Amino acid sequence: MKVAIIGTGYVGLPTGVGLAELGHEVVCIDKNEEKIKKLQKGQLTLFEVGIEELFQKNIASGRLTFSTRLQEHIPGADLVILAVGTPPHPVTKEADLSYIYAAVEEIAPLLKDYTVLATKSTVPVGTGDKIEAILAKTNKDAQVDVVSLPEFLREGFAIHDFFHPDRIVIGTKSQKAIKLLTELYRPLGEDIPLLIVSRRSSETIKYASNAFLAVKIHYINEMANFCEKTGADISEVARGMGSDSRIGPKFLQAGPGYGGSCFPKDTNAMAYMGRQAGINLSLIEATIYGNDARKQQISTRIAEAVKDLPHPKVALLGLAFKGGTDDCRESPAIQIIQNLIGIDADLVAFDPKAMDQAKILLGDKIKYADSAYEAVKGADAVAILTEWTDFKALDWDKIKSLMRTPHLLDLRNLLDKSTMIAKGFRYQKIG
Ligand code: NAD
Repeated sequence: MKVAIIGTGYVGLPTGVGLAELGHEVVCIDKNEEKIKKLQKGQLTLFEVGIEELFQKNIASGRLTFSTRLQEHIPGADLVILAVGTPPHPVTKEADLSYIYAAVEEIAPLLKDYTVLATKSTVPVGTGDKIEAILAKTNKDAQVDVVSLPEFLREGFAIHDFFHPDRIVIGTKSQKAIKLLTELYRPLGEDIPLLIVSRRSSETIKYASNAFLAVKIHYINEMANFCEKTGADISEVARGMGSDSRIGPKFLQAGPGYGGSCFPKDTNAMAYMGRQAGINLSLIEATIYGNDARKQQISTRIAEAVKDLPHPKVALLGLAFKGGTDDCRESPAIQIIQNLIGIDADLVAFDPKAMDQAKILLGDKIKYADSAYEAVKGADAVAILTEWTDFKALDWDKIKSLMRTPHLLDLRNLLDKSTMIAKGFRYQKIG
């Protein structure tokens, strides 16, 4: 099957690599010429576990190509996938659909034979109808089915999730489109969990899922605050809760709040949609408010740790919004560091993968180290801000010996409390 993917970012690129590996002929298209030039030279533009090998393999086989030229690839495509960004509007926080509509305006006149136009970008309910209206106005002869095909991949696990999806939601009533998309995913196996629903349900499933996960994170963070005041231990509480199959253990890790390119933007967009529909989505509104406050609470905790020391130094381990990715968009680590800039302390950060991305956001307002060991040299506090497994594997005896004051703020509950106390750290965890 010939597939054209519009937008070659954190969703478009792993999707392109995955579909090429399934045997399809895939072209990943992007407006960003620099990005496409790099990809054409066989250089990856993002970090994802397991992507490199499949990327190189499928370029070599000729099934995976990159281009900036829609006009060369859209007319022959069986399937066009929209994977452009839908960032939050700076004021209303609703999803900004300008990239989607601009892409559709460009694609519309190029559509020739029957094509499925599938939206993988996260878009508000009713967007499929608006795309159809643009197509009807721009190219009324186009034989096209507009389908919602939301993406549920987790950054850092994008390749794994592509090949092992919990479900693939297809939002359409068109039998022809269902047949084509079933064929697309058939190489994944006979029992692939396809869920065929209406387009509006499909668009809503994506937001409802992300908002639910955000609520779950906010809930456990509130429970962690409660545990800190009452002497319970959030790790034990989460284990007890999570072993109830109705609750499940995932998204019950207390920490500095959720971040990334999806949860903050999608909860805000969902809350906006609720307001527009006259529906009080109070749980989501409270989660947004609570998650913003969470990052301030954590910054205060770090600042408190060094407030009585002369010219203190704080080592910050982790900048990405979570482990396994270089993505710093809406990263709690970045927001916490931004809150700390201005306190009387030297701030030195290290991340195994996200240094370049973080430098774009934080510039020279803090210092950067080449390793965790360099970051902690002479530090009065070390704060773990991202749950990189690399940090678990560090030599913590060496870290203690390098620090001026061995105060460890484990803000991801990554390490074992009694082991760290035995090593001589003043150990502070969440909850
Ligand atoms: P991204 O910013 O990494 O990539 C988007 C790409 O689209 C950019 O490279 C940009 O240059 C390109 N682009 C914009 N307009 C274009 C056009 N007209 N023609 C060609 N290219 C164009 O974004 P992302 O993280 O991949 O997210 C894409 C969508 O997928 C968003 O709606 C997001 O909410 C959703 N999503 C993201 C994730 C995730 O983990 N990142 C997961 C699920 C869903």
